[in-house]
Amino acid sequence: MLSNIQKQIKKATRNSNINSNLLKVLSKPENEIKINFPVKINGSMEIFSGYRVQHNNYLGPFKGGLRYHPSVSLDEVNALSQWMTYKCALQDIPFGGAKGGIKIDTNNYKEQDIEKITRGFTKALYPYIGSNKDIPAPDVNTNSKIMDWMTDEYNNISGNFNLTSNMRSVFTGKSIDFGGSYVREEATGRGVALIIREWSLKNNYNLKGKNYIVQGFGNVGYYTCELLNSYGMNLIAVGDHSGYIQSNEGFNIFNLKDYVDKNKTINGYKHGKKINKETFFKIDCDIIIPCAIELQITKDNASSINCDLIVEAANGPIDYDAEQILENNNIKIIPDILANSGGVLVSYYEWLQNKRDEYWSEKYIRDRFDEKICETFIKIYNLSIKNKCSLRDASYNYALEKLQNNFIRKFSF
Ligand code: NAD
Repeated sequence: MLSNIQKQIKKATRNSNINSNLLKVLSKPENEIKINFPVKINGSMEIFSGYRVQHNNYLGPFKGGLRYHPSVSLDEVNALSQWMTYKCALQDIPFGGAKGGIKIDTNNYKEQDIEKITRGFTKALYPYIGSNKDIPAPDVNTNSKIMDWMTDEYNNISGNFNLTSNMRSVFTGKSIDFGGSYVREEATGRGVALIIREWSLKNNYNLKGKNYIVQGFGNVGYYTCELLNSYGMNLIAVGDHSGYIQSNEGFNIFNLKDYVDKNKTINGYKHGKKINKETFFKIDCDIIIPCAIELQITKDNASSINCDLIVEAANGPIDYDAEQILENNNIKIIPDILANSGGVLVSYYEWLQNKRDEYWSEKYIRDRFDEKICETFIKIYNLSIKNKCSLRDASYNYALEKLQNNFIRKFSF
């Protein structure tokens, strides 16, 4: 994944005047933290490996999610932390980039074990995070409940009697009762769908009746479908860690969501026919939206993809070589750092509310969010037209220029 980012950046900056020293600095994270911490599960001690990579903080405190997944490694979170730096710069948010997680298969643990592991991880992370230092958030297999446990544990360690506003602002993506923000849960998927709408307006592409397929039906996948459904679009195939299903007449996303809420997977859902991953990515459709994990579209399956647009709702789902094949086949791509930046935008709103001890209304946040997401898309779209480059190249160049202004101030001696 790291080499993917380096190649993407090299391509994006080949005709721009981004300072080569800045690129050198950004090629390595500031801090790579690996913590092995013990937790007693069913009376016996288990050692878990947790990671936090703090990539860059020129624009503000480090910011990024924590994921619980068997594939979590230093290399993976390193790459994901870099994308966070660019994502925040792109959205003009005063945060830097970080990412972290625990290498764990959550299916093997009960909820009370996950709480213990989460509290153990928080203790181990304590010296490295803080509301003006590094602000974690949910990611794959983590949610508001986990952020609430982390906030509570962090507050306990700090020795506070009450949960102060400063403590609330250490984590984002909390539940509303714990100081979370309205719209945070739906933010990333909502942003993905709004960006698809803006792209369609710029390209005279009528979304009504268009067929799309989604890999990953978790937080981002579902909320993306919810809004796309309201535009009259049709979900004709969906997949998750358990497998893939296809239905030419389309899925009822609300029934599917009820099923997944109960069963934690699409496996066993009564509608549609079972297909494999290979067939899924060959489906003739209008839009493909990867909403699961990285490196899903590679040079092995890119040439059989048959759609107009791929929207990277997940981080890094298309590898560099696959992208060259897709571009040659005239398939448009909305890159991750633009497409899924809605989550960190509302995380920023949550942090601001906590810092100021304010509670913004749902309508206020949604209006502010929608306006900002569309404004960012148009800004990058116009830059891509002006520079005759892809949306990915334009996104990197905008973000890097922003970082460059701060870099020059820092290293002007
Ligand atoms: P989630 O845990 O809610 O859902 C993940 C989905 O991916 C699940 O349906 C899961 O079954 C599926 N999945 C996992 N491994 C898979 C595999 N090997 N093959 C196919 N499907 C698989 O996670 P999420 O929050 O929806 O995040 C999804 C993606 O979006 C990740 O790449 C994450 O980094 C990115 N993202 C999330 C947010 C956010 O706010 N949650 C923000 C920005 C980016």
